[in-house]
Amino acid sequence: MQIIRKNDEARAKHSRVLLANDSQLGRSSERAPITRISLMKELVARGVRITRQRRVLIGIIQDSSRHLDAEAVLRLAKEQDPRINLATVYRMLALLKHRGLIDELDLMHLEGEKHFYEVKTSSDHCHLACISCGAILEYASPLFERLKKEIAADSGFRIRVARLELGGVCKMCSEKPASFSAASCE
Ligand SMILES: [Zn+2]
Ligand SMILES: [Zn+2]
Repeated sequence: MQIIRKNDEARAKHSRVLLANDSQLGRSSERAPITRISLMKELVARGVRITRQRRVLIGIIQDSSRHLDAEAVLRLAKEQDPRINLATVYRMLALLKHRGLIDELDLMHLEGEKHFYEVKTSSDHCHLACISCGAILEYASPLFERLKKEIAADSGFRIRVARLELGGVCKMCSEKPASFSAASCE
């Protein structure tokens, strides 16, 4: 039993690059570096007034290593400024979304009706949602960009937003003996 567990841990370490990093809603894969725009730079360039509370929220959304929902943004924001409330968070998210600076995701509804937000990336990426452990992996590929170009050229459709979410079982979960799947995924 112990040996299996050790192997499992070693395998987990080994396959780390393919998996969400520190948390289950983690993002960024070391295989294909994904670059994100600077919210502050974009907002300043668009003449948006940056209040103290907005600065706090921008910092949280920009620097998060996870896909955050509004409640999570609020929790982190309150640590810096207890006066920030959910309405302020939603207003900020709406402002960023309206200006095309963040993407809104439902991540295969693994977490129910929650919506998650992330800073726009320089090129689109896919989200792979593991239905076994809840990990969210990001995957960027030039093929995705080519597919969008092909669709646009063939249909004359001008794509503004592209979202590709795949649900399935991550590498770590599928390599795990069934009896350990629940325990070691936590
Ligand atoms: Zn998994
Ligand atoms: Zn993402």
